[in-house]
Amino acid sequence: MIPAPFEYELATSVENAIELLGQSEDAKLLAGGHSLLPLMRLRFARPGALVDIGRLAELRYVREDGDRIAIGALARHHDLERDPILAQHCGIVSYAAGLVGDPQVRHRGTIGGSAAHGDPASDLPTVLLCVDAEFVVRGPEGERTVAAADFFTGVFETALGPRDVLIEIRVPKLTGGFAYEKFNRRAQDWATVGIAAVASNGGAKVALTSMGATPLRASAVEQALAGGASPADAAEKADEGTDPPSDTNGSADFRRHLARVLTRRALGQALGG
Ligand code: FAD
Repeated sequence: MIPAPFEYELATSVENAIELLGQSEDAKLLAGGHSLLPLMRLRFARPGALVDIGRLAELRYVREDGDRIAIGALARHHDLERDPILAQHCGIVSYAAGLVGDPQVRHRGTIGGSAAHGDPASDLPTVLLCVDAEFVVRGPEGERTVAAADFFTGVFETALGPRDVLIEIRVPKLTGGFAYEKFNRRAQDWATVGIAAVASNGGAKVALTSMGATPLRASAVEQALAGGASPADAAEKADEGTDPPSDTNGSADFRRHLARVLTRRALGQALGG
């Protein structure tokens, strides 16, 4: 289908984007366009104006920043997949980026767009929640940092306001093992269920894709591991506190089963079991 009519503005800087967002009540940012444009073509989204930040080169980077790695919001999935700094210090982000969609999607889609879109079936938001990433947001009131635990607030909803621009995502340097287990029927599909796990303090941090309205931390698994449970026993708690959907990819019960099986595999890999 053809999108409803809209105005188009090319932002020349982050400040300019914030200003342009203020000039229309229902303006939306455009980054890689690989989530927003399909929605517009189906007329599920009908923004009156698009503010294109896709050419702001200053937001496309990966660099070390002390004990963290700073990732510009416009870094594309392909950039993350190939980045040597990420591969060395936070390999779970590179690995999961390589599992997003197909090469065309990975060459256009951005980490900022993926996070801001707030789709609970997306891969990178789960990984960012798992590693306790921080989101740097600039808006009309200035700059603020939002913890991953507070960023994803509902289905397609985040802590971003209508005039906010997500400019950077900071992830920690990891020292232990990691895994991202993604179950999908075809290689380029979204996850029916995905499990992110990173080794941490003798236990693990674990997060779930497509098991509720937002990416979720598998707190029961983490607590069981901290209490001395084996990875296999802890994995049995993976669906505790979740509310998975039933759709054409699988029923809620199937997703619960997948969550337990994939968590066992992910913990085995992350903890070297
Ligand atoms: P856009 O589509 O440009 O924007 C998405 C939303 O985020 C819009 O509301 C926009 O206003 C907002 N936004 C964008 N950037 C910012 C910013 N910096 N600050 C504030 N708001 C912003 N994703 C997966 O995780 N796994 C998959 O397997 C997968 N498969 C896909 C398969 C196909 C065929 C397609 C088309 C997409 C797939 N995706 C998948 C989604 C893909 O990862 C998107 O690229 C990504 O979700 C959105 O990034 P984008 O840069 O394209 O964002």
